[in-house]
Amino acid sequence: MSTLLTYISVSDGKVKRSSLEVLSRCNQLAEENGLQSDALIIDPKANEVAVKVKAYGPSTIYTVEDPIFKNHLNTPLLKAMATALDQINPNVLAFASTESSKDILGALAANRDAAALADVSEFDLTNTGVKAKRPVMAAKIISSVESTSYPTILTVRSGSYDLIEKSVDSEVKEIAFSFDESDLKITLKEIIGATGDKIDLSEAETVVAAGRGAKDEEGQKLVEELASLLNGAIGASRALTEAGVYDPSLQIGQTGKVVSPQLYIAVGISGAIQHVAGMANSKVIVAINKDPDAPIFDIADYGMVGDLYEVLPPFIEELKKI
Ligand code: FAD
Repeated sequence: MSTLLTYISVSDGKVKRSSLEVLSRCNQLAEENGLQSDALIIDPKANEVAVKVKAYGPSTIYTVEDPIFKNHLNTPLLKAMATALDQINPNVLAFASTESSKDILGALAANRDAAALADVSEFDLTNTGVKAKRPVMAAKIISSVESTSYPTILTVRSGSYDLIEKSVDSEVKEIAFSFDESDLKITLKEIIGATGDKIDLSEAETVVAAGRGAKDEEGQKLVEELASLLNGAIGASRALTEAGVYDPSLQIGQTGKVVSPQLYIAVGISGAIQHVAGMANSKVIVAINKDPDAPIFDIADYGMVGDLYEVLPPFIEELKKI
């Protein structure tokens, strides 16, 4: 039977929500088209992770387990992918758009002689391939693209589809794999950046983002307190990452991260197109800005016109009572 295969992204043992969204969409398409929806996990603890993925109902969960996959390294990942794809031979291989999938998409497509569609926000099957919508030019334009052959490999923006649990008795099949470290073409020297318990910005359900309006320590403290009370992640506009206030990894936008939380609160952010490109897919957008003509209000579901230094303290006090 023809197969739609979803690659499950895992970070420190945690399954990325965005890849389960892609799996939910593949399940739906498989059901509509009489196909099979399977999943592939490549991780040092792939079989343990498979247990968590079962709740999302792929027919078969293929696992490739090896310590080499602790950090992203494209040579072993490509080799493991090729080994798995030789065995599974799917019509469609779908990834969530992540740094890792962006890194291997081109090489994998060349290796499989496959069509590649990057960073789509919607996809469906045709008789001969996949048709998709893809935001381009900082999401100013939505292009319609279509592959005309299988296999087709695609990466899907986070937040494009809802998570749907599905009860199926998934089968787990382990794929044999070995990798000789002397074949590594790139070695990992050091990882610099945010680690620990911080909420992953790209996966967060709530994001509170600070802009130039929150220009001083007092403003940033308010934003951080709000994020903490809402159990959300902190994001920032480029105005604040360029000023060195927040780490570049927290920048949202065209040259930063793309986020699609359930709730996005923009505090003192004007809503420049380059910022909006990274957050327009958020489910509910709340904007706090003292300028009633700020462009962020054009895309906000709820807007509060006011000075953040006056608006946020009573709001935070009310939240503390809950
Ligand atoms: P501003 O545009 O200065 O807006 C500050 C807002 O705060 C204003 O609307 C103001 O009314 C409000 N404000 C001020 N004081 C208060 C107060 N006390 N209370 C309430 N509101 C207040 N930007 C990104 O964010 N992400 C990107 O990835 C990105 N990529 C870019 C790529 C390129 C090629 C280029 C050219 C630009 C890019 N930018 C990006 C920059 C972008 O164009 C904007 O300059 C930037 O987003 C502005 O950040 P801001 O909204 O925080 O600041």
